[in-house]
Amino acid sequence: MKYISTRGQIAPVSFKEAVMMGLSRDGGLLLPESIPSLSGEEERLALLCFSELSCEVISLFAPDCRDDLPRIIDNSYSTFTHPEVTPLVAKGGVHILELFHGPTLAFKDVALQFLGNMFEYLLSESGTHMNILGATSGDTGSAAIYGVRGKDRINIFIIHPHKRVSPIQELQMTTVLDSNVFNMAIRGTFDDGQAIVKTIFNDLEFKDAHSLGAINSINWARIVAQVVYYIYAALRFPAGLVDFSVPTGNFGDIFAGFIARKMLPQRIGKLVLATNDNDLLSRFVSAGDYSLGQVKQTSSPSMDIQVASNFERYLYFLKNRDSGATKAAMEDFGVNGSLTFTDRERAEIKETFLTLSVDENRVEETIRSFYTDTGYTCDPHTAVGVCAGLHHKRKDVPMVCLATAHPAKFADAVLKATGKQPENPKSIADLGERESRCVILDADVEQVKEFVEKNGL
Ligand SMILES: *Cc1c(COP(=O)(O)O)cnc(C)c1O
Repeated sequence: MKYISTRGQIAPVSFKEAVMMGLSRDGGLLLPESIPSLSGEEERLALLCFSELSCEVISLFAPDCRDDLPRIIDNSYSTFTHPEVTPLVAKGGVHILELFHGPTLAFKDVALQFLGNMFEYLLSESGTHMNILGATSGDTGSAAIYGVRGKDRINIFIIHPHKRVSPIQELQMTTVLDSNVFNMAIRGTFDDGQAIVKTIFNDLEFKDAHSLGAINSINWARIVAQVVYYIYAALRFPAGLVDFSVPTGNFGDIFAGFIARKMLPQRIGKLVLATNDNDLLSRFVSAGDYSLGQVKQTSSPSMDIQVASNFERYLYFLKNRDSGATKAAMEDFGVNGSLTFTDRERAEIKETFLTLSVDENRVEETIRSFYTDTGYTCDPHTAVGVCAGLHHKRKDVPMVCLATAHPAKFADAVLKATGKQPENPKSIADLGERESRCVILDADVEQVKEFVEKNGL
């Protein structure tokens, strides 16, 4: 199994190389050259636990680490507090797939626990090291930190905007005291942080000198880890189709669903693309309109995104795997801020996806009514998916709604909607009392570089 670029300008690479490369060197995204099929294997796979199923699925994409995967995967999911890792709960006529039982209470743990262990394994094999540098608006930073805390050969530097992330999000990052974890709060916005990271990664001399690595959502290892829970959930049901509703921001999670659907087309039906007020992707599905707008702040901040960094992977399939056409379309998008689609492409989009954009009132109303009707508390991200899932529920086809964050992580929005404070799980109950560590810097490239230089491996 080799990996190619959506833009077709690199020689094929192995899974291991793809994980270390992250973004393809030609500016495209890496994809396996073919998608393996699981047809005919369902009965056997349905008997496996989550970790066993992960090994089966991921080794199809990673034959070069097959022997080491069981250990890597067991380590990755031993940090989850639920024995099923991603349990399925039936509520209110739909099924909730709880993806938030990892150390930071958000679904990003599923992928980042795995990626952290993959990095450690690959670096130890090659005898090298890495300094991870990233900017976060909240969720990704803590999940990335928990993915690599205490690991050999990796230091991690995460920039967050000072006093502009929620108190829980801040403490989830700054109370990790392992010596390889460095938090930088900058006096500025998330965009300032991201711009600093971009500038530093573009300084190739600095990047190479300090072995900088990224942990953003374009790494293929993250996608492949997420493919597993779609298959796991689909196989909890008797033969026949299951639909999935996915709260979407960067198109990473739902793209994993798209891959799972290619592997198991007789079991995975429609993918409901659920967005908040940032409805670019929703307009794309309903009207074939992919054009940039302004980012709006909502109660589901991890989906307050306009440019979806994984979209190019889907575009490549939509263009019938024509890397020239994908490259041309992305370059066009870079210039015009919009994309257009042919009738054939629009029909294909509609065949795969349903969509709903859920505004702020409806998010609050969904949290309230779902709680009143079923006793189940959704966080605002999950509520976006549940609202869209209920809207598109087909008779006789089960609807699985992905629960991407624990309600306690977004307690204010939940309290406002239900009048009840969600219960804090153990992992965050005493956050306020723990020791924390963080430096405060100006939103300045040189200050960040200096800090990385001083503390990097
Ligand atoms: C990141 C995130 C999302 C969006 O996932 P994408 O892969 O970017 O589409 C949804 N919910 C929560 C809680 C998240 O942290």
